[in-house]
Amino acid sequence: MLNFDVVIIGSGLAGLSTALKLADKKKIAIISKRQLIDSSSHWAQGGIASTSSSEDSVDKHVSDTLAAGADLCDEQVVRFVSEHSPAAIQWLQNIGVDFTKQATNNLLHFTQEGGHTVRRIAHVADTTGKAVQSVLIQKVLAHPNIRIFEDHIVVDLITNKKIDLSETAKNECLGMYVLENFSGKVNTIRSGVTILASGGASKVYLYTTNPDVSTGDGMAMAWRAGCRLANMEFIQFHPTCLFHPKEKSFLISEALRGEGAVLKLPNNKPFMHLYDARGDLAPRDIVARAIDYEMKKRGIECVYLDITHRTKSFIMDHFPTIYERCLKLNIDISKEQIPVVPAAHYSCGGVITKLNGETDIKNLYAIGEVAYTGLHGANRLASNSLLECLVFAEQAAQNILAQPGHCKSDLPQWDESRVTDADEEVLITHTWNELRRFMWNYVGIVRTNKRLSRAMHRINMLRDEVQEFYQNFRISNNLIELRNLLQVAQLIVESAIERKESRGLHYSRDFPNKSAEKKITVLTPDNFNGERFKKNKKLTLVR
Ligand SMILES: Cc1cc2nc3c(=O)[nH]c(=O)nc-3n(C[C@H](O)[C@H](O)[C@H](O)COP(=O)(O)OP(=O)(O)OC[C@H]3O[C@@H](n4cnc5c(N)ncnc54)[C@H](O)[C@@H]3O)c2cc1C
Repeated sequence: MLNFDVVIIGSGLAGLSTALKLADKKKIAIISKRQLIDSSSHWAQGGIASTSSSEDSVDKHVSDTLAAGADLCDEQVVRFVSEHSPAAIQWLQNIGVDFTKQATNNLLHFTQEGGHTVRRIAHVADTTGKAVQSVLIQKVLAHPNIRIFEDHIVVDLITNKKIDLSETAKNECLGMYVLENFSGKVNTIRSGVTILASGGASKVYLYTTNPDVSTGDGMAMAWRAGCRLANMEFIQFHPTCLFHPKEKSFLISEALRGEGAVLKLPNNKPFMHLYDARGDLAPRDIVARAIDYEMKKRGIECVYLDITHRTKSFIMDHFPTIYERCLKLNIDISKEQIPVVPAAHYSCGGVITKLNGETDIKNLYAIGEVAYTGLHGANRLASNSLLECLVFAEQAAQNILAQPGHCKSDLPQWDESRVTDADEEVLITHTWNELRRFMWNYVGIVRTNKRLSRAMHRINMLRDEVQEFYQNFRISNNLIELRNLLQVAQLIVESAIERKESRGLHYSRDFPNKSAEKKITVLTPDNFNGERFKKNKKLTLVR
């Protein structure tokens, strides 16, 4: 049995930065279900919000974040994150991230994005995530105290409640079961501290900007282990993801519309002016809703984004990555319209944590997109998520380093004595496709009571089928992810049903207005044994 002081599940920004902050003092394992680079963090384009600029202030950043969050952010947390943002950027610079500088001096260059009232986004050209992740990957690979397990997927957490049914002991995380993808063997790993840094759940939708790894595993595992989750109904949809059979999830930046690109129907007619006076520059949720409405009304597969009024050289200067990527697919965006669909982009909800990253379960932390910290409320302000990874990585690391070491108990091995090889992989792929399609159609950008209850009915049936499969056959990467996606889908739908209003990213045709009451949606599992919270308590969490 393998044994580590700290096991980190995930190699995105949250996982790698936490690992580096702990590695001089602790023996660390990083588990990553594909390669280290496979994460949303790698694909982040815009950058990282920070109040480092002399024209900015914490108050301004707080006010922009609260406005984006539609009155549902935890202001104390927003302020805390904003105050720590300059240190987060400085830490990245210290370890070697070469942010884009101003042309005339050596100061950081800041860009501006929707919802920000000042320039505050530190970036590395238009590939910030890739630049940051390559520095972090080099550092973790070189560190003697960090052991890396690529192509290993964590199946489930082991808690004392699961292995010893004693009613009195506090629920504590002791380790996990991990499947080696190439051999099919399931190993048991003991850990003093376990950190979920497993990212979001956008793969539960048919169209997503996220890489394949975003299957909500950490949220599902935490729920099964007994953690509460919050605000799962708030999924941010990006309005324009490339629609092409050979390209699953390439984001077409909002900046194109900033430079005059126009959204059009297949008959070449612009339509955004029918929905909002700001036309194509309306906020993300309004544009995404308008596209969704047109697609569903007309039964069309996509709409088109037209930037052909700009010259080729302008497009190549401003959008080199998008230009090249589309050209590879035989779309010359200086001459042709780009087929686009809205796509699931970010999970605002997740595992409830304190300011130091601790969850409801002892020795279990959650950091990054998997977590609900209170920062995002009902909608995420652009570029606040990478910042959240960095700030909570630091807080969790400080907290873990201040704790004494943990004694580690014996853990039971994975039991495969009563299972056989699965002979019908098609059941998994079919269910996976079915789930993502009905989540898109029934629990997507526009929701209704009828669609939500239909989705819940389907989820319950599929969960029973998949659970039976899970119990009777040898597990695989796809089966683990499908089981988790179904769990997360159920939590999203349950939260959406609970919210009887439209707010931020949750839009219901049956409840089109915003309620005066500001509530977060807290889901409590049956096996939750910590402090009791009312299911839907008022805004601020007790910390
Ligand atoms: C295209 C795109 C552009 C974006 N642009 C920006 C931006 O400019 N600014 C910004 O702030 N945010 C941006 N975001 C959002 C931001 O990138 C993510 O919220 C953030 O990177 C999440 O980091 P993370 O470390 O929590 O998770 P991720 O980076 O997604 O990493 C999750 C890791 O967990 C691993 N994992 C998951 N489950 C398991 C398991 N069961 N076992 C083992 N490993 C597992 C995965 O393999 C992966 O390594 C963007 C997102 C996308 C998709």
